[in-house]
Amino acid sequence: MPIDFLNLGRANAPYEAAMREAIDRVLRSGYYIMGEETAAFEREFASYCGVEHCIGVGNGLDALHLILRAYGIGAGDEVIVPANTFIATWLAVSLVGARIVPVEPDDATWNIDPQRIEDAITPRTRAIMPVHLYGMPAEMDAIRDIADRHGLRVIEDAAQAHGAQYRGRRAGGLGDAAGFSFYPGKNLGALGDGGAITTNDDDLAERLRKLRNYGSSIKYQHDAAGINSRLDEMQAAVLRVKLQHLDADNARRAAVAEAYRAALTDTPVELIRVPDGARSVWHLLVVRTPRRDALREHLTQRGIGTQIHYPIPCHRQGAYAGHDWPALPVTERLQAEILSLPMAPYLSADEVALIATEVKAFFA
Ligand SMILES: *Cc1c(COP(=O)(O)O)cnc(C)c1O
Repeated sequence: MPIDFLNLGRANAPYEAAMREAIDRVLRSGYYIMGEETAAFEREFASYCGVEHCIGVGNGLDALHLILRAYGIGAGDEVIVPANTFIATWLAVSLVGARIVPVEPDDATWNIDPQRIEDAITPRTRAIMPVHLYGMPAEMDAIRDIADRHGLRVIEDAAQAHGAQYRGRRAGGLGDAAGFSFYPGKNLGALGDGGAITTNDDDLAERLRKLRNYGSSIKYQHDAAGINSRLDEMQAAVLRVKLQHLDADNARRAAVAEAYRAALTDTPVELIRVPDGARSVWHLLVVRTPRRDALREHLTQRGIGTQIHYPIPCHRQGAYAGHDWPALPVTERLQAEILSLPMAPYLSADEVALIATEVKAFFA
């Protein structure tokens, strides 16, 4: 029996009837942009994250880049980002014309190493943009502490971390502002593109509400040169259905992760180290081994889908060729050794056991 890396049809199947009903409701309402559904989702997601404001936007990249814009971060400024992340974290900084300052990951959490952040700070640094990579919160106490000592903003890239917790508080409320993505494959995924910003900052929220909507809060009155990046009614209605089940879905992911961990303990693969106080939502289940390519081939031959997140580090991408990047050996070694195994709320105990058995067979 083949096991897909991720089958979104299977993931959405339990919610199909409720989503259909939500879509019908939007269809009949006659409002498709900036209506009741979006307003209701914004209230519900803000409450879920434990923050004052949620601003729906078109996608996760816009969420991040609009936060930077709303803070007035741009040309001449520097933003600290993880070297090991999806390229959107970097692109958000590029979009506002600021300078990307990549920081290497910790060799065990695979996420931005707080110890190295301080060395990367200069008089031009304005913000730190930690990513809760693979659903695991970054070491936010240490990051907040550094930011406070240097007067920097902390902008969470929470695109992989809907519902993740750090010392009892949810992602989205762990920094000054956070960007979320509702890309279909995320833990809270729409049926198309979508994104949101969360924050407790009233002024920032007001600026963002304008920036996403042509710089306007009153029709045909434009206070800023904004963009068009809105969460539409159809996606908001679908997200309201799925938000009700997010905690249950995340609990299933945690059970799958625990089953993997138990089954893989006596294999040579390394699993992510959980930072103190962090509770992951297991967006991805990543294992590490120097024999990554051969393991991947073994699993492919047996019908088990895998992915690499990410196969080419940002600083090696064509988009960032010609820049004078520092040496990033931790990131490069990690990129050569990581492999994402199937991870979804729907995976059965038998499927996880079968995948683990094949991993063990490979090393036997
Ligand atoms: C998905 C993702 C984004 C971008 O979200 P989009 O909605 O695809 O624009 C940003 N950062 C990280 C870490 C992501 O995984």
